[in-house]
Parts: sequence; C-alpha cells; structure tokens
Amino acid sequence: MGRIVFQAWHLKTMITIGAGVLGLVLVVAGSLYYVNLQTVHQVGLKQVFNGAVAGRIVAVDPGHGGYDPGAKGAGGTLEKDLNLAIAFKLKETLEQAGAKVVLTRDRDVDLVTPGEGTKKFRDLSNRLKIVRESKADLLVSIHMNSSGSRWRGAQVFYHPQSEANRSLAVAIQEEIRSRLGNTSRQALSLTSAYLLQEASIPAVIVEAGFITNPAEEKLLNDPAYQQSLAQAIAAGIIRFLAEQQ
Ligand SMILES: [Zn+2]
Repeated sequence: MGRIVFQAWHLKTMITIGAGVLGLVLVVAGSLYYVNLQTVHQVGLKQVFNGAVAGRIVAVDPGHGGYDPGAKGAGGTLEKDLNLAIAFKLKETLEQAGAKVVLTRDRDVDLVTPGEGTKKFRDLSNRLKIVRESKADLLVSIHMNSSGSRWRGAQVFYHPQSEANRSLAVAIQEEIRSRLGNTSRQALSLTSAYLLQEASIPAVIVEAGFITNPAEEKLLNDPAYQQSLAQAIAAGIIRFLAEQQ
C-alpha cells in the first residue's frame, strides 16, 4: 500500500515537473523566436536605411530668418518661423534614418555679415559657405510659397544644370504628392535662385505650401502636418540617395 502510494505520488510529481519543464521550454523557445523575428525585422529595416543614408550628410536650409521674415500669411504667420519648424522636424527624421544633418540656421537669425553686396546676397553667400564647409551630399532649402489666396500645395524647384538636381526634386515631389494627397504639382525648373545655381551638389528648394492661402496657412502651422511634410521630404531624400547607389 505504502509503496503504491509512494509510486502514485512519485508519478504525479514527475508529471507535474515534466509539464512544468515542458511549459518553460515552450515559453523560452517562443520568446526566443519572437525576439529573433523582431531582430530580423529591425535589422532588415536598418539595412535598408543604412545602405542609403548612413554616413551621408544632408544640408537643410531654413529660408529667411532674423531681419528677413520672408512671406507673411493673412493670419500673421511668418515664413521664417514655418521654415525653421519644418527644418527641425526634417533634421530629426533624417537623423533617425542614419544621416548627418547640418542646418544653416537653428534660430531666428539671418546670416548677414559686413561686406559687399546687398544684405540678401551676404545672407545667402554665408548659407552657401556653411553648406560647402559641411561637405554635404545634398542641399534642401525650405521655403513657403506666396501668391494670393487661391493657390495651394507644396512644390519643389531645381536648377536644370544637372540631372541629379531634377532627380532629387522629382523624388521629393512624388513623396509629397502620394503621402499628403493634397497636390498634383510637379517639380519645376528654376534658374533664378542663387543657392540652387551655386551649390555644386544636388540641391532643391521645397516650397512647402502657400502661406498666403488662409486654409493652407492654418495647415502649415499644425505640428502634425509639419511632421507629415518632413517625413515626405525625408522619404524623397532617402529614395534619391538609394537610387544614386
Ligand atoms: Zn522664401
């Protein structure tokens, strides 16, 4: 009797321990499998980003600043403030993707120094100097459009002197079109912008929207919309860099 009881107890204990061990093994194996999947997923994404942008330097120029407010919206918005807000968000997004970002200004300042020529020229040539010294791979200058209250939508401009300028502009414009879904604008050639003319790297101006359109002025002031714009611009840059490899 005693022996049978012992055996029954022994068997029950063994089964309990066995089930426990099996359960533990399954939990550990499941966790390892999950962690492995996550790692593969992250590494996969990282490789995509790293391949295109790791170690690349992007110059971001928030247009105007300081004495020069740029265009003004009917609601009182100043172009220089929107340009800076979007530039900050673009910088953050690009850095998350592995790029190094150089801003021509990170405050409400102009870059006018004593010298020859107009204030505007001295401001722009100092921006160009920062871009050149940064050894940037490409330049994106952020501006707002202004032309009455009727027009709306972001538009990218490039100097037609190089095919790379056009490719960068088209990539950014396409990402803006598909991600924001609120414009059918195409990238446009522009020969009168000093920065685009003089930058010896792929360079574009992104006019992020019409500050003179009251509805768009409101939208451009919305941090969530600024973030969407920044992500679209970053996606265009990353796509351009990936296509160049
Ligand atoms: Zn401007």
